[in-house]
Amino acid sequence: MNHQPPEHAPLTQFAVHNDCLQIGGMPLTHLAQRVGTTPFYAYDRQAITDRVKLLRQHLPPEILLHYAVKANPMPAVVQHLAGLVDGLDIASIGEMNIALDTVIDPGKISFAGPGKKEYELRCAIAAGVVINIESQQELETVARQGMEIGSTPRIAIRVNPDFELKAAGMKMGGGPKPFGIDAEQVPSILAQLGSLNLDFVGFHIFSGSQNLNTEAIQQAQQKTFELARHLADYAPVPVKSLNIGGGFGVPYFPGEQPLDIAVIGAHLHALMAQVKWQLPEATVALELGRYLVAEAGIYVCQVLERKISRGQIFLITDGGLHHHLAASGNFGQVIRKNYPVLIGNKVRETESEIVSVVGPLCTPLDLLADRMQMAKAVPGDLVVVLQSGAYGLSASPTAFLGHPKPVEVLV
Ligand SMILES: *Cc1c(COP(=O)(O)O)cnc(C)c1O
Repeated sequence: MNHQPPEHAPLTQFAVHNDCLQIGGMPLTHLAQRVGTTPFYAYDRQAITDRVKLLRQHLPPEILLHYAVKANPMPAVVQHLAGLVDGLDIASIGEMNIALDTVIDPGKISFAGPGKKEYELRCAIAAGVVINIESQQELETVARQGMEIGSTPRIAIRVNPDFELKAAGMKMGGGPKPFGIDAEQVPSILAQLGSLNLDFVGFHIFSGSQNLNTEAIQQAQQKTFELARHLADYAPVPVKSLNIGGGFGVPYFPGEQPLDIAVIGAHLHALMAQVKWQLPEATVALELGRYLVAEAGIYVCQVLERKISRGQIFLITDGGLHHHLAASGNFGQVIRKNYPVLIGNKVRETESEIVSVVGPLCTPLDLLADRMQMAKAVPGDLVVVLQSGAYGLSASPTAFLGHPKPVEVLV
């Protein structure tokens, strides 16, 4: 028996010509010239468009697609997605302002997250954004502010479900959570709505993130619909909108495989047939972050030095954890694993070696690749971290050590 260590799933979203990765329809080396400086993040417009097309092809046509801006808030990316999806989900005033600059109708923007500030809520009410209510206090604040402003706030109740998304990379529902209102408390919240000046539109039920297990996703969707149907009995008016979360994962690490969207789509077709008669007035939205953008993005840095320390080869680059915390293994990973990393201008090079890719920060945490097989690189070569279009720059401690911020481009 031959026990090979697990490998990264083959990633085919970018073509390779003459040994060089192509992004935005041009060779990476050319793009690096165009950007004028390294490090940078590049997001491929066509790859994002293709991803939305793939979803539309397999999901029931009546399912609305929302983009969770948190995954990549670069305004150009959000603008591009606004032309492709049906709604945007935001979690701060900063994201709200980016979303309100797009063509998306404010009624198709929903505002989630614990600890929304009073001024953020006022702005959301004035804009007509749907506020996902996450606590009794928030309900009261929003109702009062609606009176003060003289408009009726649009609200949905964010429910902390009484089940967990099994096998999710990040659990965001089930058990005690700061997110949403516990499912068992929702009936008493709904009972108050009749006497408050609020426009109740429905429920938001988000159970977890980064799930690569098709069966677990199907089960969570089924339970989400059951919970929504149960809670709808307590609502003062018929449920008009149901946001069922998302949680679709992408393969980052060795051994992980991409989701089979056809299978998930087929199951949703069956579920939607039930939902249509159980919640006849409800539109159903799926809210996706990383699944829409992660694979369309790369992080690019340049080799400054090839250094050998006691037999181990280090590529010292101008990029690092201050730009890409997730690739360094310090954004939620328990055991550090390598992202897919390659030499972007030597993709098919046959001469390879085992190297570690590090950055310029004075900490051993500043590691982009730990002993990976890679093309033999020299100073000036371009190191590419794939799967970097989500939770990259905006989830990184850019101020740490005072190096300049990387550029971001949508190509
Ligand atoms: C973070 C978040 C998302 C996006 O999660 P992904 O894993 O990027 O798809 C969606 N909805 C809510 C409420 C979130 O907090």
